[in-house]
Amino acid sequence: MNTVETDANGTLDSVKDSSENILEVKNLCIDYLLNDGEFKAVNKVSFNIAKGEIFGLAGESGCGKSTIAFAINRLLQPPAYISGGEILLEGKNTLQMTDTELASLRWKKVSMVFQSAMNSLNPVITVAEQFRDMLHRHQGLNPQQSAHRAAQLLTLVGIDPNRLNDYPHQFSGGMRQRIVIAIGLALNPDLIVMDEPTTALDVVVQREILQKIYKLREQFGFSILFITHDLSLMTQFCDRIGVMYKGELVEVDSAENILHRPQHSYTQKLWSAIPTPFGDSVMSQYATAAKTEVTQ
Ligand code: ADP
Ligand code: MG
Repeated sequence: MNTVETDANGTLDSVKDSSENILEVKNLCIDYLLNDGEFKAVNKVSFNIAKGEIFGLAGESGCGKSTIAFAINRLLQPPAYISGGEILLEGKNTLQMTDTELASLRWKKVSMVFQSAMNSLNPVITVAEQFRDMLHRHQGLNPQQSAHRAAQLLTLVGIDPNRLNDYPHQFSGGMRQRIVIAIGLALNPDLIVMDEPTTALDVVVQREILQKIYKLREQFGFSILFITHDLSLMTQFCDRIGVMYKGELVEVDSAENILHRPQHSYTQKLWSAIPTPFGDSVMSQYATAAKTEVTQ
C-alpha cells in the first residue's frame, strides 16, 4: 500500500510520483485571529495521502486536527485564517478555487464525516430526505430515484432499507453514524475525511463500524483521512499515521513503525499514557524518557 519513503530523519514523507496522491497538504498554517492576538493552531503542516490509503492524524485534544479537516473542505469560518501553504486535491489547489468549483467538489471528490456526526443529521426529516438535496443537486435525481439510491447506500452500511422513512431519533447512535457514513459515500468520493467518527460510540459498535468502513474502502478504493485522539485504535485501522503536537506534525510513519518504533518523544509519550488491563502502560519502556523530554 505505501508508496512512501521516510526521509533521513524518518519523519516527513515524500512520494515519488505525486499523481499517486489524492491529497497533498504543504506547509499549511492556520491562525485564529483573537482579540489579544493570533493563535497559531496549525503550523507548517505537510503530509500526503495516496490514492486508496487510510491516513491517520493523531494527537491530543486541541492540537489542531479538526482545524486541518475543516481547511481541507474549505469549511473554516472566521476567526480562523489560513495564513500560508497549499492544499492540493489531485494536484489542484483548493485554496484558490472559486465557490462554484468548490461546490462541485464537495461530496463528489471529498466528503466529510464530522466529529459531531450525531448532530449532522436533520432531526425533522426522514432518512430518505437526508439524501435528497445532495442527490438532486449533483446528479439531478428526482425524489423516487433518490430514495432508490439511498436504499442501496443504506444496504451498503448494513441498515435495513425499509427504514428509509424513519426519522433519525428512531435509530441508535451507531446506526445514525452508519447513515452519516452512507451520506458521505453517496457520490462515490475519492477522499472521505472522518473526524472522530466513532468517538461517541461504545467499543463494540466502534469496531463494527470501522470494520464496515474498511470493507467499503476495499470495495470502492477511496482514501480516508481518519482523525482520532485514540492512537491505539488508529494503528489498527490506518496505513500511515501523522502525529500532531501543538499545531505541528512531529512524526509521519507507517502504522507499524508508529506502534513498534515511534521516533519522536511525543509519540512515545502518547503510548506511555495508554494504560493496559494489567495496570502498566502499553509501552512502559518509553515512559521515563518521554516524561523528561516532552513534559518540559
Ligand atoms: P483538535 O481537533 O485536535 O482537538 P482543534 O483543531 O479543534 O483541535 O483546535 C485547535 C486549537 O485551535 C485549539 O487550541 C482550540 O482551542 C483552537 N480553536 C479552535 N476553534 C477555535 C475558534 N473558533 N476560535 C479560537 N480558537 C479556536
Ligand atoms: Mg477535533
